[in-house]
Amino acid sequence: MAVGVLALQGSFNEHVAALRKLGVKGVEIRKPEQLQSVNALIIPGGESTTMAKLAEYHNLFPALREFVKMGKPVWGTCAGLIFLANNATGQKVGGQELIGGLDCMVHRNFFGSQLQSFEAELLIPKIAAEEGGPPSFRGIFIRAPGILEVGPEVEVLADIPTPSQKAVNFSPNESQEENAGSENNVIVAVKQGNLLATAFHPELTADTRWHSYFLKMVSDTSEDASSSSISQSTE
Ligand code: GLN
Repeated sequence: MAVGVLALQGSFNEHVAALRKLGVKGVEIRKPEQLQSVNALIIPGGESTTMAKLAEYHNLFPALREFVKMGKPVWGTCAGLIFLANNATGQKVGGQELIGGLDCMVHRNFFGSQLQSFEAELLIPKIAAEEGGPPSFRGIFIRAPGILEVGPEVEVLADIPTPSQKAVNFSPNESQEENAGSENNVIVAVKQGNLLATAFHPELTADTRWHSYFLKMVSDTSEDASSSSISQSTE
């Protein structure tokens, strides 16, 4: 299994290290042709405007869009989520190229500036059911985006109270159990087909369940592709 990590800027080394812990070699991607050698891609957190400028400079957008269109698994964390969104709003997004594919509206820097970065326990029922471990995950949010709207194909994997609620009744260290699923919550993790997106940074924690979940998406897709090519060759 070859998993690419977009290595233009941001926390790509940390993703490569998390993959290594799970016995998978992350392939650093900086040029369009390198995408041909991988079955999946992680787009790390960082600074989405800078990452977009570098991706434009290296002429990566057409190949990245093609990769998503082909249905190959792609996981965007934080700035990577912004990259994957069909629509983005918030400071400085105007004019910035996005890859698109994920049917959602993302709000850049939703939780405020660098100083408002925080950690929170997120309830992750689906990930915990598939990967085991505790029912919650410690999410690290650094100038994180929030997902304001999702299309019908998008599955919500985690949400947390919006900042205004936070001021009144949110303590990042408390369990989110009472708030999970509230309509006032902002969505912070989603899946749509082979696209996975998280507003927080699993690569900065020791808990590898999100990486392991993504690797299962990759192996399921590779198995589907090989069984359909076997059935084609035997028809
Ligand atoms: N706020 C950043 C952006 O808009 C993303 C932050 C991150 O990836 N940690 O690019």
